[in-house]
Amino acid sequence: MKKKEAAAEKPKPVDGKQKIAYLTIDDGPTQYLSKILAALKKENARATFFFIGNNIKNEYKAGIKQAVQDGNSVGAHSMTHDSKKLYKQGQFIPEMEQTSELLSGIVGKKIGLIRAPYGSTYLSNEQVQKAKADKFRLLDWNIDSNDWKHKGKPQEIVDFVNRELDGFHKISPVILVHETKDTLDAIPALVKAIRAKGFQLEPYFEDNDFHLNFKKDPDL
Ligand SMILES: [Zn+2]
Repeated sequence: MKKKEAAAEKPKPVDGKQKIAYLTIDDGPTQYLSKILAALKKENARATFFFIGNNIKNEYKAGIKQAVQDGNSVGAHSMTHDSKKLYKQGQFIPEMEQTSELLSGIVGKKIGLIRAPYGSTYLSNEQVQKAKADKFRLLDWNIDSNDWKHKGKPQEIVDFVNRELDGFHKISPVILVHETKDTLDAIPALVKAIRAKGFQLEPYFEDNDFHLNFKKDPDL
């Protein structure tokens, strides 16, 4: 445990060739998934998708498989995205287990990556301990694109993220956007802007030695 803590405290070097950024796309699958995958592919970029279990209709399952085949990472974002159910009624762990199983069944490999709706801030200590016992890896974010505030204006999302990136020298940026038409439209410019700042875009897999959560827990 000591060893792990030390590793997590050491920030991932963001100088020289190790400069890595993660683009995370939440709240799908939606009708935009396959187009977003195509847009990423066109830029030769990969991202991390956090899917809501209740959004996984049959027609989107092929898209989820495609995401993995293309080298993207996929994770669970609860069944309901309902803060009352997840945090007041204690359903966070059961919902993550259910979503993870659903995704594992679709992609044919164990999916242990999770993202808490509204952030891990809302988790009880008990839920954090259970998440770790379940071997979940939880990823929060450190750049919120605020894409919902720029509805219909994808270039504003790009400009906003681009400015935020200037503050990242010691830790990898983990950028939060949502699976929308605006994100689809923003992707070409967004990917170019991230790379122009010297970052390499990579998907975040659950065995990454870089941990990022609002609980500052090196084992979560
Ligand atoms: Zn969400």
